[in-house]
Amino acid sequence: QNIQHFRPTKAIIDLQAIQNNVRHLKEYLKPNVQIMAVVKANAYGHGDIEVAHAAIEAGASMLAVATPDEALHVRKHFPNIDILILGYAPVLFAPYAANENITLTVFSTEWVQNVQSLKTLTKPLKLHIKIDTGMGRIGVTKIEDLLHLYNTINSSSNLIVDGVFTHFATADEEDESYFNKQANMFEQFISALPAKPRIVHAANTATMLMKDKHLQFDAVRFGISMYGLAPSAYVKTKLPFPLQTAFSLETELIEVKQIQAGQSIGYGATFTATEPSYIGTIPIGYADGLIRKYSGQHVLLDGIRVPIVGRICMDQCMILLPTAYNIGEKVTLIGKQKEEEITIDEWASKVDTINYEVPCIITSRVPRIYN
Ligand code: PLP
Repeated sequence: QNIQHFRPTKAIIDLQAIQNNVRHLKEYLKPNVQIMAVVKANAYGHGDIEVAHAAIEAGASMLAVATPDEALHVRKHFPNIDILILGYAPVLFAPYAANENITLTVFSTEWVQNVQSLKTLTKPLKLHIKIDTGMGRIGVTKIEDLLHLYNTINSSSNLIVDGVFTHFATADEEDESYFNKQANMFEQFISALPAKPRIVHAANTATMLMKDKHLQFDAVRFGISMYGLAPSAYVKTKLPFPLQTAFSLETELIEVKQIQAGQSIGYGATFTATEPSYIGTIPIGYADGLIRKYSGQHVLLDGIRVPIVGRICMDQCMILLPTAYNIGEKVTLIGKQKEEEITIDEWASKVDTINYEVPCIITSRVPRIYN
């Protein structure tokens, strides 16, 4: 797509970095373990279609999304690959899923019975049963419920138990006791099934990188570290291979002005210069995902760290310059300039959150540019 973007604010996505992360993972996994590239939420804000292409080329063989709409969007671009919806799909979506060969997550016998009573499936529908081993989100919690669900699905010839899976709540933490409880419970549930489904999977990034390799089962769900980010500070110290981040965020100075001591900047006039200063304006604000809590965060200009000053506006914000710079000077909010780097992890700690959230909330108004 050759859409022209006139505003200088853009996210630059390094697809080579994503491919290197997938290739490194592939070398690290047991042989024959499939990589499911988790491209939900527009690939954690990186762009689902472009990331999926890169990941598949590097060795991923399945895609995972969160919602029916995401699955349909991805299916348009990838007619043949396995796509799993990890989250909830309404009963009425089942015929669409069957037609488009989209695999659904299932955790309720009633849901299956409702699909059966629709009688509108013209093609087989593949299902992955979700087991809740301690996440407390979605999934069956009792072996008897698992077996009832399994048998109900198998009573219809056009419904297929293609997979079974669980999700870990604490895989990224040093204390392994809760994790081990979940892993043991998952193995008990699987062994209670009359037959092993085609694909058993449990591992998110932290599990596949940190835990015993038998927990890779038939497939792993590779999310955060496909994007070059570690699932937690603890995992970051234990990585089995180096990660390459893929997301940078850039803009340019659109105005530079000199202010005197005592002059203030922005809504509420919350920043007041204590000496003659240069102020630069950059065209990015909270409607781009640069929420107001990022006031004070550093950005890079000419390889130097400078702070965002005053309140962040909807579309713009102001930075304190060390000296006069020209309009058009590049400003890097996330990424490298010369010897300096501002990471997504730094952004996350500035607003007391996790790195996952940072690229996800950069809104669609910021174009993603691929190199
Ligand atoms: N599996 C499920 C069910 C998820 O919800 C997620 C992400 O939230 C993932 C896998 C990927 O996790 P991660 O990004 O930690 O690899």
